Amino acid sequence: MLQLRPNCECCDRDLPPDAAAMICSFECTFCPSCAADKLHGVCPNCGGGFSPRPVRPARLLAKFPPATERVLKPGGCAAPAQAKGGNHGQYSAQDHPTLAAGALYFLQAGAHFQD
Ligand SMILES: [Zn+2]
Ligand SMILES: [Zn+2]
Repeated sequence: MLQLRPNCECCDRDLPPDAAAMICSFECTFCPSCAADKLHGVCPNCGGGFSPRPVRPARLLAKFPPATERVLKPGGCAAPAQAKGGNHGQYSAQDHPTLAAGALYFLQAGAHFQD
């Protein structure tokens, strides 16, 4: 089940469950403008692409509530490193040594950014 995280990991904009949001396969969550303009469709944590986050029907939100833990990328997010010389957005997780660190970050980051 999707967590439906409450904010953009880049700009900390609120992303309520019915807001337009973009998520990667690990559910890194971004607002559409950050996903497009800052990240150019590439997740800065895992190097994967984004899909639009589905909207959970309101009647199900009480039984399956959205996540309340805010995840925010320390220092905000810049565009992913483009060291691959014109291969923008095409590098895989194998080329991306920060993947493991990113996974750890998922586990730890929320605790530091509670409201
Ligand atoms: Zn954003
Ligand atoms: Zn990701």
